Amino acid sequence: MNAPQNTHRPDAHELWRKFLRMLSLTRERELTCNEAQALLDVYVDLELAGENPQQVLPDVAHHLRICPECREEHDALLKILAEDAS
Ligand SMILES: [Zn+2]
Repeated sequence: MNAPQNTHRPDAHELWRKFLRMLSLTRERELTCNEAQALLDVYVDLELAGENPQQVLPDVAHHLRICPECREEHDALLKILAEDAS
């Protein structure tokens, strides 16, 4: 009697698919300036904490690369918060 091979785990599989779909959705969509700036303080917080914001918030990182206005905003915020922290 062969036990059916139970390597198929639908729950984990489904979660993984959802995760990948979520990733690709955020990859395809570009943030607006409003959305990017709403996340800017989180982004800068991560930066100051020594984390890698580009990994956590790749959309924001991407927006900052293509949008000089938001980059300026980012630099200003970084300066303020960095001075605050010290
Ligand atoms: Zn922008």
